[in-house]
Amino acid sequence: MKYSALGVSSITCPCCQNDTFDKDYRQLNSRGATFFGLDWANKEASILICKRCSYILWFMDEPAKK
Ligand SMILES: [Zn+2]
Repeated sequence: MKYSALGVSSITCPCCQNDTFDKDYRQLNSRGATFFGLDWANKEASILICKRCSYILWFMDEPAKK
């Protein structure tokens, strides 16, 4: 599946330039959020996993399917 995000018409993998991903969701780790001093602790993030190299891209706003 291909995806687009805010201001990005077509998301591509920064490692291998592939443009197909599997989408999943991950709870943001509150310990990590505290470490970074961010206030979105325990919110859910969207992740896209590159189908070619398995690199994971994280998004706070859910990417849209193309
Ligand atoms: Zn990749």
